[in-house]
Amino acid sequence: MTRRPLIAGNWKMNLTHVEAVELVRKLGAALPDAVHDVVEVAVLPAFPHLHPVRTVLATEQLRMVHGAQDLAPQDGGAYTGDVSGPMLAALGCRYVLVGHSERREHHHEDDALVNAKVHAALRHRLTPLVCVGEGLGVREQGRHVEHCRAQLDADLTAVTPAQVAASVIAYEPVWAIGTGRVATPDDAQQVCGALRERVAERCDAATAGAVRILYGGSVKADNVAELVARPDIDGALVGGASLDADEFSRLCAITAGRYRGSTDEHS
Ligand code: PEP
Repeated sequence: MTRRPLIAGNWKMNLTHVEAVELVRKLGAALPDAVHDVVEVAVLPAFPHLHPVRTVLATEQLRMVHGAQDLAPQDGGAYTGDVSGPMLAALGCRYVLVGHSERREHHHEDDALVNAKVHAALRHRLTPLVCVGEGLGVREQGRHVEHCRAQLDADLTAVTPAQVAASVIAYEPVWAIGTGRVATPDDAQQVCGALRERVAERCDAATAGAVRILYGGSVKADNVAELVARPDIDGALVGGASLDADEFSRLCAITAGRYRGSTDEHS
């Protein structure tokens, strides 16, 4: 089985809704069908921008998909300020980020909550993009693989093999996010490969072969080719570089070119 590469742009808490619409239009113009034929391109705007972005994607028949950056573990009720899975599903979201390190750090989200959010996403046919990754201290102690495997185990508690296969895992070392300090392709492959092995142990080889695993952390057009050339890296979760239409579309095109050249490495 060949896994379809995914490049997902995490716009974080940036842009007004007017700027978000402008960005998605620019991306639509910059990304040819030849890229979409190979790479799935997703944008993850802030909540208020989901409806206008969705409208532009639909009315202008752009081939990107959209998703959200977080969701509540509950499906509705008295949870002021939160946004539920049913709301995101009604907005046509395909993906939702879960367990991003900025949520873990600034909102004190632990693995139990991340796991509840994974289940909330799956209940509403949203694909969770489950983020794991170590901080600098853990990396310096050489415990990054065990740390990420433990996060994955906890975050995927009681998720069935079929649900795991349909999910996306993102390895995002915290020390590489927004710092300009990208993991080397070897570092990224080491952890992504270990995560795939862990999925095989928890589930089975078919599930491990199907689940897509992304790398995230200071990915740019200039460094994406070497990362996605690695056998267990099926694309990228991109923060800063996704806010620049030229840079992001170049990054997607380079990924497509890399896959066109060597699809069997990722199967
Ligand atoms: C992210 O926020 O998921 C991310 C990878 O950010 P950046 O690309 O800016 O490091």
